[in-house]
Amino acid sequence: MRFLVKDNCLVPLRDSEDSLPISQIPTILQPLLNPTFPYNPNLQLLLTGKQLLLDDLTFPLEEIQEHYENGYITYRKGIEFRRNKPICSRCGNMAENLFARFPCARCGEICLYCRKCLMMGRISACTPLLGWNGPAPEHHLPENILRWKGQLSLGQQNASNRVVETVKNMTDLLVWAVCGAGKTEVLFAGIESALAAQKRVCIATPRTDVVLELTPRLKSAFPGISVASLYGGSEDRHLYAPLTIATTHQLLRFYHAFDTIILDEVDAFPYTAEESLQYAAVQARKPESSMIYLTATPNEKWQRECRTGKRSFTTIPARFHRHPLPIPHFTWCGNWQKQLKKEKLPANILTWIKKRLENNKQALLFFPHIRLMEKALPVLRKLAPEIEAVHAEDPDRKEKVQKMRKKVIPLLLTTTILERGVTFPNIDVAVVGAEDDIFTESALVQIAGRAGRSKDFPNGVVTFFHFGKTEAMLKARKQITVMNHEGVRKGLIDE
Ligand SMILES: [Zn+2]
Ligand SMILES: [Zn+2]
Repeated sequence: MRFLVKDNCLVPLRDSEDSLPISQIPTILQPLLNPTFPYNPNLQLLLTGKQLLLDDLTFPLEEIQEHYENGYITYRKGIEFRRNKPICSRCGNMAENLFARFPCARCGEICLYCRKCLMMGRISACTPLLGWNGPAPEHHLPENILRWKGQLSLGQQNASNRVVETVKNMTDLLVWAVCGAGKTEVLFAGIESALAAQKRVCIATPRTDVVLELTPRLKSAFPGISVASLYGGSEDRHLYAPLTIATTHQLLRFYHAFDTIILDEVDAFPYTAEESLQYAAVQARKPESSMIYLTATPNEKWQRECRTGKRSFTTIPARFHRHPLPIPHFTWCGNWQKQLKKEKLPANILTWIKKRLENNKQALLFFPHIRLMEKALPVLRKLAPEIEAVHAEDPDRKEKVQKMRKKVIPLLLTTTILERGVTFPNIDVAVVGAEDDIFTESALVQIAGRAGRSKDFPNGVVTFFHFGKTEAMLKARKQITVMNHEGVRKGLIDE
């Protein structure tokens, strides 16, 4: 799009020689809000807290321009230049190799665009990002906002109080809750107090599965509240709602939208790998807002910040069923990879597996790499032909997890894909090759956290078979022990 600056206003114009692509206009002027202008409430619903492309809107350009001239719509540059270096305003991309050029029909020039967020629609040097500057829509609140009638554990209650306080004070908080602590319920009171104050809330999580699981739970906890559920291809894409549940990716379409953002699994892929998603989370919150981070396994930097008082945090050191977390056993298994080459596995691993098969105790067996896992599968199938293996690209992944739940599979081999998010009620867990780099402290804590989750089967054996102990293994075991001690000290665990 090319614009002309006229009477302190941008005017979209294609064919004038004086017009420029939006990124080349030095300052974008924002007309003052005209309070008597009859704005279109549909545009208000669509654009509040968003940063959208013209292509995302079905309204005529004249109507959009009229809203801009009356101060209701904002135009921002899709690409900013800082010291001649491009930055994508939507995803924060600054890597030069992730920009490309194309002959652009909109501005008639060879136009620079961001490749990094291309799948959400092309942002180029002539793209305006559209936002809303008028009043926000009001939420119509039911008399009882929260209808959840469950009981919080003492540990959950403490964390819940901290969340409410954080929402009210517009600050940040890390909730460090052990695997199986029941973190979702801890958010309810905080969400309720935010909604009651006409605030807008978002829960963002890296995985679509989690969005799909959380949506019905939140809809039934907050039955009178409209909930937008956002993931790639979801139908709620343009729904304005006081409560939004989204994949972190979807946050890229939001700008200064939320008074409270709850970021789930902050340690997990793809946050740590993807800076743009962190950027998205920061952009999606309002300048005055609260951010609540949830994790069972904060990374080292965050743990240090907690210890040194630089980060405000609260822990839920015990599971809701008041039993301690299973502590991993370390068992040396020699050069297991060498044995695998000869289509064998170390004797102590085989014994561990046989014992579970004999006792009909289901188990998960983690491997560092697909290749090694697939080599082990035929060896183990000699013990029980029903044994299966699963990995991220496995097309039958969901089916196999389902069969594991139905106890059709006695032993499931897996890569780190099942390290989090899945719950089987009564299993033991082993890691083969716990010394591998892929098993970070947080991965190992998550893996150990698969055992003993159900109140009917609170105990589970966790064994790390290794060919040399690593720092990550020791730290993982220490983290679990420390949490158990804290749980006992705070009266959250029955001994
Ligand atoms: Zn262009
Ligand atoms: Zn981008």
